[in-house]
Amino acid sequence: MPDLIPNYVHGQTRSPASPTTLDVTSPIDGSSLGQLALTPPSELDPVVAAARGAFTSWSRTSVKERVQVLFKFKQLVEQNLHELGDLVSRENGKLPAEARAGIEKGLEVVEYACALPQLIPGELLEVSSGVDCYTRRYPLGVVAGITPFNFPAMVPMWMFPLAIACGNTFILKPSEQVPLTPLRLAELLKESGLPDGVFNVVQGDRTTVEAILDHPGIAAAAFVGSTPVAKLVYERGIRAGKRMLTLGGAKNHLVVVPDADVEVTARNVVSSFTGCAGQRCMAASVLITVGDCGHIIDAIVAHAQKIRPGHEMGAIISAKARDRIISYIDLAEKEGATLRTDGRRVTVPGKEHGTYVGPTVIEHKDHSSKCLQDEIFGPVISVINVKTLDEALAIENASPYGNAASIYTTSGAVARYFEQHANAGMIGINIGVPVPREPFAFGGWNDSKFGVGDITGKDGIAFWTKSKKVTEKWTAGAARNWMA
Ligand code: NAD
Repeated sequence: MPDLIPNYVHGQTRSPASPTTLDVTSPIDGSSLGQLALTPPSELDPVVAAARGAFTSWSRTSVKERVQVLFKFKQLVEQNLHELGDLVSRENGKLPAEARAGIEKGLEVVEYACALPQLIPGELLEVSSGVDCYTRRYPLGVVAGITPFNFPAMVPMWMFPLAIACGNTFILKPSEQVPLTPLRLAELLKESGLPDGVFNVVQGDRTTVEAILDHPGIAAAAFVGSTPVAKLVYERGIRAGKRMLTLGGAKNHLVVVPDADVEVTARNVVSSFTGCAGQRCMAASVLITVGDCGHIIDAIVAHAQKIRPGHEMGAIISAKARDRIISYIDLAEKEGATLRTDGRRVTVPGKEHGTYVGPTVIEHKDHSSKCLQDEIFGPVISVINVKTLDEALAIENASPYGNAASIYTTSGAVARYFEQHANAGMIGINIGVPVPREPFAFGGWNDSKFGVGDITGKDGIAFWTKSKKVTEKWTAGAARNWMA
């Protein structure tokens, strides 16, 4: 493990001169993973220059050749899946199996990008006699991705495979909490045959992000993170004339009606709010039961109580994040809510310096608590009971977020009604983490996303390219008798 965690520029690790550094520790046990070199704005120019230098040749390489690198990259990631999964687990705290599943999910976008030669051809029409119009897509230039801590490999893979397959060169600014995985991905891309300068990593925090957004040499940026930051980043990038797409936080509602299958629902709800220790933008956060569902809540509590942090559930990213989660549970208790199971006082033997919270199920009296409004981002589910499906939908619809919403029912008509009226971009029917599989793209609504389109799928191709419209007419001259 490197002591000073560097950037990756033009195919090589490189540390900024006299950087400010930040301690990076593993949430699993608090052990040190190294010192992160934070890139100051003055050090961004050489990174953009490296990406710019690689752009001409990469953008002129045919799309069929460009995706050969991604075919190889997919193979290499698969061959190194366990090692990569362990790295993600070490720096993020999730279980190794969860880490591997996230990487495999990211590979779905790599597969999609491998199909780009089949997806990107433009359109052609003879618009009047002898006159053709056609379209061709071009890359934007040097583009950037800014990513959060919770999926160190998958979220970057929502961005760079399509961006580089489309012919752009890419600068990734990973979360300062998980800086190691992207460096390994960079090595694997190089081993796959990616020319130097096409994929670069700059380490840093807010200051580095702002420098990226302000840099005139970067044409577009995608961002994934919390809503307040997504909004700031979107606005700053747009002001600087960039194409922007920023994905924000979430507060996902699951609705359970009395005809739901008890076992399927209980297992599924628990894995939705405890998977990745609840640190997923698709995790269940509010459970709205309609009518008499007490037996289903009992089953959920029973399943949740079997989950042991450090065994069936991973760690929370930092002590600060853990304390914030606990403050919401404290608040619920103070408000008189019932803690059906309480994960506040958790220690994992042998990992006393790790940061853990156990599964927590809170039954609220009404939906006025901040616990039901704010993104808690931990293994906590807030349960409320209402009388009708329309009341449940009204609560879900009132949330400013709009990533995911799910219903548990055995009635097709109820499911269809829910799908039509829920105010979210991704809907689950008896599925608690309804992440679409490519080519169905990932993207929420409302304050869970700023900008147009989804981040993957066809919209991803549109985001990373600009289209040229050509109108042509050729007149065969009399002298061209060799045509006869
Ligand atoms: P975050 O917003 O704190 O950080 C995200 C990135 O922004 C990091 O690279 C960070 O360095 C940078 N950053 C932080 N503050 C900044 C500022 N003021 N100005 C500019 N850049 C700044 O998010 P996080 O804590 O790393 O990740 C968790 C959040 O991400 C949750 O809200 C979660 O819901 C969200 N998320 C959303 C999706 C989605 O698809 N919508 C997916 C994963 C995570």
